[in-house]
Amino acid sequence: MESDVTSSISDHRLVPEGRSPFELRVNNGIDVPENEIRSSIASGDLGFLHSFTTGSTVDGPGVRVVAWTTLCMFRCRYCHNPDTWTLSNGTPVTIGSAVEQLRKYAVGLKVMNGGFTLSGGEPLMQSRFAARLFAAAKDLGIHTAIETNGFYGDKLSDRELSDIDLVILDMKAFHPEQHKRVTAGIDNKPVIEFCQRLAALHRPMWFRYVLVPGLTDDDEEIQRVAEFAESLGVVQRAEVLPFHQMGRYKWEKLGLDYTLSQTAPPSSAAIARATGIFCATGLNVT
Ligand code: SF4
Repeated sequence: MESDVTSSISDHRLVPEGRSPFELRVNNGIDVPENEIRSSIASGDLGFLHSFTTGSTVDGPGVRVVAWTTLCMFRCRYCHNPDTWTLSNGTPVTIGSAVEQLRKYAVGLKVMNGGFTLSGGEPLMQSRFAARLFAAAKDLGIHTAIETNGFYGDKLSDRELSDIDLVILDMKAFHPEQHKRVTAGIDNKPVIEFCQRLAALHRPMWFRYVLVPGLTDDDEEIQRVAEFAESLGVVQRAEVLPFHQMGRYKWEKLGLDYTLSQTAPPSSAAIARATGIFCATGLNVT
């Protein structure tokens, strides 16, 4: 049940559908009082979404509706959506209105063997909202997926994890120092532990690895990531995503220090080499 206060300020808000998450969005939630943000985040009554997109075929199996949350503290150097880092850049929506939007797509998603994906930002930084949204999606009979950096996996109980049909883990690095180098100095122990917990629970996973020349293209590190993914025994698919510059304008508009402004996308040979490392472990690579 939503609080009266939350309902009164937010029922009229619908998250605007985006052509893609690459649209820059800022300050959509700055008029929400701080105390309300805190209580709503704690209860999951309210979530902050950057946007939602329909018709995605790359964020899980089949055709997907994707909701993009705001808030992330990883600050990856290659992030193409830095406007999702700040909660107040998102549009505040009640859990009720989010579920209603999802309900509109339920039949179509089932017909197209698709589903609902919660991405971000880091969705589990709004873990109560995420858990309630996934539970509602399962009640609607919709396949569910989360795209996560894995750091806050311990915020979901085993029961709540059972409402998520697929965890798409954006793996930044396996070596702790490399993980700190790619992110804002973040330790990856919680990420590793979350992966191992998912494996113990036999929860299906996809692994994603962004290939950035000069930052994440070391063969030994790729090998470590691939071997770790394979060792889990639940990774159904691994993907090597080539770095691109589609998010550069966001870094510039937001006045952030973008260290990769001169970095070119990886060559097709480099992509093939990285993909080959994953393949050699026996993983299904796409
Ligand atoms: S975890 Fe994702 S959203 Fe967060 S900074 Fe990294 S790439 Fe961006």
